[in-house]
Amino acid sequence: MENMLGKLKVLFLSAEASPLVKIGGLGDVAGSLPSELRSLADSPDVRVALPFYPTIKKSKLALTPTASFEIAHTSGPLICEAFETFINGVTTYLIDGPPIAADQAVYSGDNFRDGTKFCFFSLAAMELCRALKWQPDILHAHDWHASPAVYNLRLIRTRDDFYQNTKSLLTVHNLPYLGQGADDALLAFGLPRAHLSALPDWAEHIPLALGLLSADKINTVSPGYAAEMLTPEFGAHLEDFLTSREGDLLGILNGLDLDSWNPETDSSLPVNYFSGTLENRQENKKLLLEELGLSPDVDIPLLAMINRMDHQKGVDLVPPALETLTDLNWQAIILGTGDKDLEETARQLDLDHSRIRSVLKYDGALARRIYGGSDLILIPSRYEPCGLTQMIGMRYGCVPLARATGGLKDTIVDYHLGEPKKSTGFLFKEASPPALADTLRRSLDIYKDQRRWRGLQRRGMKMDFSWEKSARQYLKLYLELIKA
Ligand code: ADP
Repeated sequence: MENMLGKLKVLFLSAEASPLVKIGGLGDVAGSLPSELRSLADSPDVRVALPFYPTIKKSKLALTPTASFEIAHTSGPLICEAFETFINGVTTYLIDGPPIAADQAVYSGDNFRDGTKFCFFSLAAMELCRALKWQPDILHAHDWHASPAVYNLRLIRTRDDFYQNTKSLLTVHNLPYLGQGADDALLAFGLPRAHLSALPDWAEHIPLALGLLSADKINTVSPGYAAEMLTPEFGAHLEDFLTSREGDLLGILNGLDLDSWNPETDSSLPVNYFSGTLENRQENKKLLLEELGLSPDVDIPLLAMINRMDHQKGVDLVPPALETLTDLNWQAIILGTGDKDLEETARQLDLDHSRIRSVLKYDGALARRIYGGSDLILIPSRYEPCGLTQMIGMRYGCVPLARATGGLKDTIVDYHLGEPKKSTGFLFKEASPPALADTLRRSLDIYKDQRRWRGLQRRGMKMDFSWEKSARQYLKLYLELIKA
């Protein structure tokens, strides 16, 4: 894709990018989208900037020292060292400096510390482009961590020859994570409070809010969540401000890495299969039941939940819902880690019911065996910007049963609400145990008719969740921005 000066240049700023560093969905997006953009026929020159965390230093990467410069700070100038490497064919800049080297963890949980780290990263990535004389047309920032760059661009753009034509896009992966507590960190790097701006007073010095104020366009990771962000229930108290920016806000659904998530080739599965050989899936179920010490009867429906144990994910709705379904025949597997109280409830559920197994750890291979052998995947999220589990579930023939919110609502066609012949799963509206239990009852009823169940599985397996579709939408957005 050529603009007036040549190929469209995009600087991609993220706190995570798989395979170098992945904590959650952000890592998946920043790991997949740039290479997908670059593989489009009219590809832009996308380059990724990432903090050079100590954990990345442990991997043996081929690095080229690229630039060294100072970033002004009230404690004295901080030296930034930048390195270049190639990841999946994408030029990736690793930004190092004292605030990044100081922490072993990617996120310390202290937003002053993290604010200092990510503010340094944001400003240094912009300075690196200047040092390289590589003028980005688009600064594409992700979440609060990269928002200081968007704000800084707004502050300098009118008087900075280098950045005067750069446009910004901010992608929001999880709105409530605003970066509260980073005020002093921003100030120390010379980023002032946005007095008399359109933001509410309390948000004038909060990184994500400043990004939302300053970005030329804003997107989030599903159309459903983009609409929900404008409501008091989901707007993190910024709904009125976001509504004032509605014309610049849109949703672009995340894709799934279809090579990594493929039941035909997944080496973690005892038996590989595709939609035409679904009967082979039963062997996976049998082995999974055996592995976890559940009843070996493969005709009993097997429910699963694979989730961060977090209030957002509605994990607490599941135990009381299951307790009301003891008259029905089912077994369940819960895989997750996180909140200690939620873990304890899951542990107790396992102890109280021989038909429930709770595995309280992060285990990627077990997760794959669960997707490849269970019948239903439960996703009772209170809010879900996009969600991966439902897409993985569908691709593996594990039918999703989810709360009708955000990306879940956008990707699952409910058996009862839509046309059954187009349906791919089950949705429930209210975030309550009875609503979840009712929908579970409905789905277990459908399960009795294996012909109909196979239909649900096959339609889900045929859904197109490729990144290519999303990448084209991002490219369109970049072009709209440079034309504006
Ligand atoms: P989020 O990024 O909000 O945690 P997503 O649905 O976008 O949620 O992605 C969750 C991913 O993490 C999925 O790939 C899911 O399979 C995986 N996952 C979550 N918990 C576990 C666990 N305990 N063990 C293995 N994989 C897990």
